[in-house]
Amino acid sequence: MTFDKPFTRQAQLPLDALHAAQRVLSSADLHRYQAADRGLGEVAALEQDYAAWQGAQFCLAVTSCGQAMQLALRAVGVCPGDQVLTNGFTLAPVPGAICAVGAQPLLVDITDDLVIDLVDLHAKARQSRARVLLLSHMRGHLVDMDKVCAIARDLKLTVIEDCAHTMGATWRGTKSGNFGRIGCFSTQSYKHLNSGEGGLLTTDDPDVMARAIIMSGSYMNYANHGAAPDERYFDNPKYDCPNMSARMDMLRAAILRPQLAKLDHAVDRWNTLCAVVAKGLEPLSAIKVPKHANSARLVGSSIQFRVPDFTAKDCQSFVLRSQERGVVVKWFGDTAPVGYTSNYTQWRYVSSQSLPQTDAALSTLFDMRIPLTFDIADCEVIAKILCEVAQETLSEVHN
Ligand SMILES: *Cc1c(COP(=O)(O)O)cnc(C)c1O
Repeated sequence: MTFDKPFTRQAQLPLDALHAAQRVLSSADLHRYQAADRGLGEVAALEQDYAAWQGAQFCLAVTSCGQAMQLALRAVGVCPGDQVLTNGFTLAPVPGAICAVGAQPLLVDITDDLVIDLVDLHAKARQSRARVLLLSHMRGHLVDMDKVCAIARDLKLTVIEDCAHTMGATWRGTKSGNFGRIGCFSTQSYKHLNSGEGGLLTTDDPDVMARAIIMSGSYMNYANHGAAPDERYFDNPKYDCPNMSARMDMLRAAILRPQLAKLDHAVDRWNTLCAVVAKGLEPLSAIKVPKHANSARLVGSSIQFRVPDFTAKDCQSFVLRSQERGVVVKWFGDTAPVGYTSNYTQWRYVSSQSLPQTDAALSTLFDMRIPLTFDIADCEVIAKILCEVAQETLSEVHN
């Protein structure tokens, strides 16, 4: 049995997104501030729509989640030379954002369930001068948000949430991104909304948002935003904050709004598909799927699992054999970065740090995308193939 659908094909854009794109292109009003005399425009409307959907007071649309994180770090006052706490297991743009503002990532260990380890967080927050935690909900895994917020309160940490994989996820019914001072989201093609590239920043803090808006490159057009604080909050930022040109354009916003209207439905479908894969992996007890708390409702746009009995060679061979049968999995324990997959030991721009639990978890950790172009039958086939290939790999070792 082999599988023959591509893992890189995303769902088609809704028809109303194509029509909206056509309208923007025909108007030639592509820049977000260009059409100010013809109404607020698609970008400001997206900011309004997203703030309402997210349940945040303010929203700013930017060029990427990476840019949103940089603006967020600057807006809460991170300066060159500062240390910023972040998960040892995350995607490269997260340490990248910290380095871009001249700060240094202080990496925190993770647990077997792929979330930040709260004991290590507490220790490192106490022992260092870091006052900001860039909390990455990597691959959608949510740590106990009540506990992390309690630690942040106790130790006076400012939390910025990287929600690239938790757009639509909730903890006790509250949306991910609404726990920290700022939430950062991605609309890059492999995340939960697709505009090729793009990012969104949300907050309830008017001073933070005023600074972020000016830094995003609003020139003096801050009145032309969809979900922005009152003018008086700009009195100082408009003189104090440098312009870093990270604006979203009308075309992207136009194709995002119709997708946002259907996002809740997409989240349900992802969770259905992901549950089918997870259930299909259950018969093979050697495969461990991370557990999550009952308070967490994730978005299953990808699945991660470990096979603790595998050696490094087994892991390599498992990836190759899966690939031969049409199932694309990535391995986080590889010695070299491959495609989107890398681990903290390969980020040489970050000072070398020791994270034993992260090493142990990543050494046999696999990652698989679940695009919405798959259906339930596809997910059953995929799980079956993964079980068979894992079993083959294991029996070879034990012969
Ligand atoms: C994709 C991703 C980002 C960055 O998103 P971009 O929009 O590509 O900059 C940040 N964090 C995580 C965990 C991601 O997967």
